[in-house]
Amino acid sequence: MARSCVFCGGTPVTNEHVYPRWLAQGFPEIPPTERAIMVSHSDHGGPRRHSGRLLTTQVKAVCEPCNSGWMSALEGRVQPYLLPMIKGEITELSPEAQQVLATWTVKTALMCQVFHAQEPPLVPAELFTDLYRDQAPANEMKVFCAYRMQPNYLNGPSPIEHRSMPSRNRDRTDDGQEFERWVTVVTIRIGYAVLQLVAAGPKGLRYEIGHGDFSPYVQTLWPLQETFSWPPLALKRISEYDAFADPFSKVKRPFPQL
Ligand SMILES: [Zn+2]
Repeated sequence: MARSCVFCGGTPVTNEHVYPRWLAQGFPEIPPTERAIMVSHSDHGGPRRHSGRLLTTQVKAVCEPCNSGWMSALEGRVQPYLLPMIKGEITELSPEAQQVLATWTVKTALMCQVFHAQEPPLVPAELFTDLYRDQAPANEMKVFCAYRMQPNYLNGPSPIEHRSMPSRNRDRTDDGQEFERWVTVVTIRIGYAVLQLVAAGPKGLRYEIGHGDFSPYVQTLWPLQETFSWPPLALKRISEYDAFADPFSKVKRPFPQL
């Protein structure tokens, strides 16, 4: 666990919920201590599937001013949009709503990386400090949303799922310098709402990352669009959701070109 705040570098760090407690309002029938399925992936092996008490899980990586300041304010701003989406209700998303949802997605995806810490980290530390500074997703990022019919697992529907899918490859610039291209796709499903961050580097490079044949099932939150109504077509089958959550390897889509 971090000794100083992953976002601002401040000390000391206090406990912060990976998923905010208010999400429990989307699942009035499920106790917040209910276990949910989590799937995480790393470069070094296959999927690691485990279960945990997601709605009460905390990590010690954020300082109190961040926790009760901008992060708490972001929760308050996202709730009017995200709560109806979690319940599967039609939700009008203005550019302002898209910006709030996209920023919340980045924040929550980064908290998932702290919770499921991997070596080497799936995203560089500068993504945390950039979010703290800009209070918005970076230009290189894409944030998507989708609509998932809730799958049933052994104990009934799982309220929350999280996957982090990394891809890396080495490349050389025209003058022979070796550098690493990387993409991490973090997909978070909360109830019916699916939010996905695609973070790519190195910084400053523009990647054109889209969902191709999946476009009727996917809406873009970042970069911002004209006002639209969520949901798009539902992702119903596990195979569809798997391909959506792992756009670079599941469907063998080529790594984005520079
Ligand atoms: Zn802080």
